Amino acid sequence: MMTNSKTIPATLIPGDGIGPEIMDSVVEILDAVGAPFKWERHIAGMAGVDAVNDPLPKDTLESIRKTGLALKGPLTTPVGGGFKSINVTMRQEFELYANLRPTKTIIPGGRYEDIDLVIVRENLEGYYAAMEQTIPANGDKQGIALSGGYVSRKECERIVRFAFDYAVQNGRKKVTLVHKANIIKQMCGMFLEAGRKVAEEYKGRIECDERIVDACSMQLVTNPWQFDVIVTTNLFGDILSDQAAGLVGGLGLAPGANIGEKAAIFEAVHGSAPDIAGKNLANPLALLLAAVMMLRHVRRDDLADRIDTAIKNLITSGKVRTRDMGGEAGTKELTAALKQALV
Ligand code: ATP
Ligand code: MG
Repeated sequence: MMTNSKTIPATLIPGDGIGPEIMDSVVEILDAVGAPFKWERHIAGMAGVDAVNDPLPKDTLESIRKTGLALKGPLTTPVGGGFKSINVTMRQEFELYANLRPTKTIIPGGRYEDIDLVIVRENLEGYYAAMEQTIPANGDKQGIALSGGYVSRKECERIVRFAFDYAVQNGRKKVTLVHKANIIKQMCGMFLEAGRKVAEEYKGRIECDERIVDACSMQLVTNPWQFDVIVTTNLFGDILSDQAAGLVGGLGLAPGANIGEKAAIFEAVHGSAPDIAGKNLANPLALLLAAVMMLRHVRRDDLADRIDTAIKNLITSGKVRTRDMGGEAGTKELTAALKQALV
């Protein structure tokens, strides 16, 4: 358990596009509550390419390896030039096996009030590890395309255990295993089987149920309130977490975390939004909510609660909202109002 006065080294990557302006906003709020992070500032993405011709410079990786904790703005992987996707590289480099995406209603008065669920997505295997191949046949338009994925029993157990531990630590009551084991019998079957086995260990503490992914998708629209923690394989998690974000106000409000045993990287789900970069139009709340997750990760729920409450009060009052939330405030105005709303 951390003591309240201890500082915690953490890596900060402002990112590309709207990254720097939303990161400024977030750091301002974190400073206002006295967050314990001692930042090591590093670059990546286009900023890295421009400075040292590397979208993921060694210093940046080294810093994350050391701190094991990072807050990251959106990064652009340059097209062409043979650069590998930054997010994929980071996931592999630090074995960030769990992608955590909370979905919570913040803007009141919509169709989906009081939603509060979390999707845990397996981040390393599944169809994202697909070995793809096109087999040509006679003529240009002939041929077949082949794609497969894999899961390992070890990883299935680890991701489900992560979901259950998360549930225990965050006062959640139920974990839903989402799969397609009726059709993808081997891969989803292994996930489901491993999931049921792990669930046994939590019996009496955390409830466990199951959904086939298509049914889950429908129920997320018809009755999302029934879900608490959802855990699923890579591709299903990718789709369901975007769907869930759509229920509660979209990209400007969706935070995420990539977590492994040695490092955790917190970020907004959205990209660098170059169309609105540098115009004081970006909503900083997704990245701020990611910072709130980071505070909870280091067991500073006290500070996380203060920021959460300020966001809720400000957004509920309806006076200061950015354009994506139907308002007219800029990034800076929202940040100033948020500071005022901190209690
Ligand atoms: P990238 O190539 O880095 O993914 P993108 O153009 O796909 O960037 P996204 O960030 O993925 O942009 O989002 C798509 C659109 O959603 C943006 O063009 C922007 O208008 C809007 N958007 C995304 N994030 C925000 C935000 N934080 N505040 C306001 N609008 C946003
Ligand atoms: Mg995008």
